[in-house]
Amino acid sequence: MPGQKYANNELVMGRWPGSSLYYEVEVVSFDDTTERYTVKYKDGTELELKESDIKYITSFRSKKRRSGSSSPSRRRSRSRSRSPGRSSKNTQRRSNSQGSEVKDIKKDDILEIKLTPLLRENSVGRHNGDHDIIQKNDGFLTFTQQNFEQEFEENETLVQYSLRPRKEESKMQVMDSKEEKQIEKVPVKTMELELEFGGKIGAFFMIFLLPAAVFYLLWICEQKDASILILPLALPAFESLWDIRVFGVFLLWFFAQALFYLLPIGKVVDGVPLSNGKNLKYRINGFYAFVLTATSVGVSLYYKMGLHYVYDNFLQFAVSATVFSVLLSIYLYIRSHKVSHEELSHCGNSGNFIYDFFMGRELNPRIGTFDLKYFCELRPGLIGWVIINLVMLLAEMKVQNRDMPSLSMILVNSFQLLYVVDALWNEEAILTTMDIVHDGFGFMLAFGDLVWVPFVYSLQAFYLVNHPTEISWFAASAVIALNICGYAIFRGANSQKNAFRRNPNDPKFAHFKTIPTATGKSLLITGWWGLVRHPNYLGDIIMALAWSLPCGFNHILPYFYVIYFTCLLIHREARDERQCKKKYGLAWQKYCQRVRFRIFPYIY
Ligand code: NDP
Repeated sequence: MPGQKYANNELVMGRWPGSSLYYEVEVVSFDDTTERYTVKYKDGTELELKESDIKYITSFRSKKRRSGSSSPSRRRSRSRSRSPGRSSKNTQRRSNSQGSEVKDIKKDDILEIKLTPLLRENSVGRHNGDHDIIQKNDGFLTFTQQNFEQEFEENETLVQYSLRPRKEESKMQVMDSKEEKQIEKVPVKTMELELEFGGKIGAFFMIFLLPAAVFYLLWICEQKDASILILPLALPAFESLWDIRVFGVFLLWFFAQALFYLLPIGKVVDGVPLSNGKNLKYRINGFYAFVLTATSVGVSLYYKMGLHYVYDNFLQFAVSATVFSVLLSIYLYIRSHKVSHEELSHCGNSGNFIYDFFMGRELNPRIGTFDLKYFCELRPGLIGWVIINLVMLLAEMKVQNRDMPSLSMILVNSFQLLYVVDALWNEEAILTTMDIVHDGFGFMLAFGDLVWVPFVYSLQAFYLVNHPTEISWFAASAVIALNICGYAIFRGANSQKNAFRRNPNDPKFAHFKTIPTATGKSLLITGWWGLVRHPNYLGDIIMALAWSLPCGFNHILPYFYVIYFTCLLIHREARDERQCKKKYGLAWQKYCQRVRFRIFPYIY
């Protein structure tokens, strides 16, 4: 296996993702599992590059000399160019891989590219924040940021360009292998991947603790006294938890959803461009799958094919789903060793079996066009959750001998149905989430999607079956208002960001203030995203509280969801923050200065 070719701290030329242009970058570290380099551009942006996207500076210099194409006019146009990776100084210190030879190299000799500015009238109008100045510079539109000037004297200009290579630029990419060989390779110690979730030990415990937590919660929920402090004295026999027929029903459910996913209905859209330059296609038909499922359930109710079977065997269903998610994770782990490095997720490739099994090695495992992660994220688990809620509603009527479900049960069912239908209706938005873009598909997501979501998120409905709770219409109105408020923030924030990412020049964003970043994307600093850094999490947590309140205050169990979910989103926010810091460098720091609170205004 090839090792690290470019040394840490070495200045090299790195290809700007998605283009054929090379900028001067500094090697920060090398991950020998994914064989990717973390490189730093001049404006502080850090990106991961493959070895093939990095070249020695010397090869560019030598190539240019040989090409003999540096006419004075060309030189003039070059000297004006700005790039995210380019400093304004004429000279730059370079150290070779041994760190002994340090030379001054003229910048103009390095970059043989012409940068064509991207003039965005709408952007001009809204980059009018306190620290942002817009200036025209020799016909080139630049966004100058005073704070950046103070912090990084070399990088006073942050520019958004449409990058177009010169004719000879393509020639430059043909590397002179002889020159490369002359530069001695030195073995360099590789940087450890930053491990999440408590690292290897954390992952090891989570693999056992998460299923144990599900069974403990479900078991407690069935008891008359649903106190979580009660330790189970008489656990059900292990054999009684496994029923092959239940497993068969689970498989039927899973494959029926897979069939709905494969139906050629619904539009096909592009996912976020991957680091390998590929763009995966996704079929958007989750809402149709939901309608088909609802119709099938309606028909089975009409013909009195008792859904009560699910309630009677609820723990067995949870066991079946867990077994299936473990088998799926094993399959995912094995197949991930057969795919190329380009297909791997960065975060699930530490080289440690337990950690990688938990985090997931492959980013977008597919069988043909069937995307396993995308399918599991929204279909079997999420739709399963509302079906389980319906099962609990019917079970409540049966167990409590009611003609009508309780108001609490109706509220819980309606709120969560709205949440699921919303997710399916806006299915396309999932393509930009961390789960799809960043995380590998392993035990964490497989178990989360197939077991945790349907069986733990339905705890409130399950609780109400054996713990009758009556609430007044007044209390119900207050809870409905709370849920509407949470939903408005959640939907408003998510829609605003998705619409902005899709088309930042949309006239509806004309009055929004934004911070440009070196990647070409901007960050909203007004609207919902100017209130806190994760307004969508705030709305989600408010809704989670509204789902628990109808269960009264006798036990903490129905509040498990909101407590756990708050912890999850605080942790998720920190993960996203780390990634955005890497992605956007100083622009992210500036965003954090402008928008001080993460999730809860004036609190956190
Ligand atoms: P988010 O939708 O919060 O997206 C975070 C990304 O948004 C960042 O990485 C960045 O990506 C972009 N971004 C951040 N700040 C700005 C800004 N100011 N302007 C423009 N873009 C910005 O990610 P999640 O995947 O965590 O959440 C998606 C939804 O799913 C949320 O509503 C969340 O509550 C919900 N969720 C629900 C769960 C559940 O179990 N019910 C679990 C987890 C999440 P970039 O710049 O690359 O676009």
